[in-house]
Amino acid sequence: MKKALVTGGSRGIGAAICRALARDGWKVYINYNESGDKARALAEETGGVAVWADVSDEAAVRAMFDAVGDVDLLVSNAGIAHAELVQDLSEADWRRLFAVNTDGAFHAVRAAVPGMIRRKRGNIIIITSVCGVWGSSCETAYSATKGALIAMAKSLFKELGPSGIRVNAIAPGVIDTDMTACFSAEEKAAMAADTPLGRIGTPEDVAELAAFLASDRASFITGQIIGCDGGFAL
Ligand code: NAP
Repeated sequence: MKKALVTGGSRGIGAAICRALARDGWKVYINYNESGDKARALAEETGGVAVWADVSDEAAVRAMFDAVGDVDLLVSNAGIAHAELVQDLSEADWRRLFAVNTDGAFHAVRAAVPGMIRRKRGNIIIITSVCGVWGSSCETAYSATKGALIAMAKSLFKELGPSGIRVNAIAPGVIDTDMTACFSAEEKAAMAADTPLGRIGTPEDVAELAAFLASDRASFITGQIIGCDGGFAL
C-alpha cells in the first residue's frame, strides 16, 4: 500500500485530504501538532496513523519521518495565518509565520526526499494560497510565506524531476475552515459574492484536487501552481 504523509492533517483542508487519500487506497500518516485527539479520531476513521511533530521544529520532523519511514507522497499543508497592518506586525509574528509555513515545508521536504530519490519515485504537493500568488492587504507576512512556497515548488520540480519525483502546489482561495472562522457571516457572503462561482470553498474542494495530483492520473503533471478558488482573485 502506498504511503502518504499529510502535515497538518488533523483539521480543515489537511483532514479532508487525509480522507480523500484514504478513500483512494493510500495508507495515510496524519501529522498533527496540537490537535492530537482529532488526528487520532481521523486515524481510526481512515485506517491511518496519527503522528506528532511541530513542523517548525526540524528535529521533531526528522524524528517523525524516521518513525514513518519512506513515503510515496508528501502533502505539505500545515499552516497558520495572521492578519495585521504591516506597521503593527511584530518581528516575532513575522518569524513565527515563516517558521511554521515556510520552514515547516522545508523540513518536511528535506526529510521526505532522500527516500524518494533512492527509490526513483515520489510525489510532493505543497499547499500555498491565492495570497502567495496575488498578495493580500493586511496579510503581508502570511502572503510572503506562501509566495516563498511557490518559489520553492518551482525550484523543487526542476531539481527532483530527473529522480522521478513530481512537485505541484495548490493555491486555495477562501476555504471554510477554522482558519477563516474569524470572518463574520456577512464577510463570508461578501467574499462569496466576489467569487465568480458564487460561493467560498470547502475543504473537500481542495482535497479532490490533491487526490487527483496524488494519483497516477496526474503522472505527467509537475511544476504547476494550481488555483482552487472558484475564480476568486484577491
Ligand atoms: P486550519 O483549519 O487552521 O488547520 C491548520 C492545520 O495546520 C491544523 O491541522 C494544524 O494542526 C496544522 N498546524 C498548524 N501549525 C502547525 C505546526 N506548527 N505543526 C504541525 N501542524 C500545524 O487551516 P486550513 O484552512 O485547513 O489550512 C490548511 C492549509 O491551507 C494552510 O497551509 C493554509 O495556509 C492553507 N490555506 C487555507 C485557506 C483557507 O481559506 N482556509 C486558503 C488558502 C490556503 P494542529 O491543530 O494539530 O496544531
